[in-house]
Amino acid sequence: MLEVRNLKKSFGDVQVLDGVSFSVERGEAVAVIGPSGGGKSTMLRCMIGLERADGGDILIEGEPLMENGVYVPDRRMRKVSAKMGMVFQAFNLFPHMTVLDNLTAAPIAVRGMTKKDALEQARERLHEVGLSEKAGVYPRALSGGQKQRVAIARALMMQPDMLLFDEPTSSLDPQLTAEVLAVMKKLVAKRMTMIVVTHEMGFAREAADKVLFMCDREIVEQGTTSEVFDHPKDPRIRDFISSIL
Ligand code: ADP
Ligand code: MG
Repeated sequence: MLEVRNLKKSFGDVQVLDGVSFSVERGEAVAVIGPSGGGKSTMLRCMIGLERADGGDILIEGEPLMENGVYVPDRRMRKVSAKMGMVFQAFNLFPHMTVLDNLTAAPIAVRGMTKKDALEQARERLHEVGLSEKAGVYPRALSGGQKQRVAIARALMMQPDMLLFDEPTSSLDPQLTAEVLAVMKKLVAKRMTMIVVTHEMGFAREAADKVLFMCDREIVEQGTTSEVFDHPKDPRIRDFISSIL
């Protein structure tokens, strides 16, 4: 589904990614953990084209987004990166649009979906995230957890083959975190392909098929939850986990 090889990225003189390689199979949930500043967000942003990496390869379903450090032309890039949806820490809902309009705007404008189909789908997606009754409200009337569930529903409206989450619960208190994680666990159960950057070790342990530990510009260790959590080879993993407990 996704293959990243030897990804490199610098901001000016500061190298942020130094040869990151991993792959994701269809239906897999991959958790990315590691200390702040380790390059996790930059990695996701490079993968979806919000940031341009300097070197390496990114292949989605075998189709290159970047090869040998060169991104494919813009049109091609939009087509390939549209296979991925992203959910951000800060929700990023349109404040001047109702929940329903937040969901239907892009599918209508970008995908050419009819308004009728978009509305029908939006109601299904809202039902899935448990927010059917919020269709007509504006984001300001929602809790953080509800906003994030709307953001997930919105990402699903584009029918992505893979969802990327960048610390989706980091700005939420524990109760709201739980309701967002519950929605994400439902997606895992449906075998949605997901990459989740998270500090929620309980979620990672329970829901992830694979864990990547990112630190000091690279993926220091990757493996099953049992390999990474119970038998870590790199001492930095133990330090990191004890630092966030
Ligand atoms: P993480 O998500 O693991 O906390 P980031 O990818 O956000 O890490 O950041 C990795 C490093 O890259 C940090 O040192 C950060 O300051 C730097 N960085 C991130 N984005 C930019 C940017 N747009 N310009 C300059 N430096 C950046
Ligand atoms: Mg980050």
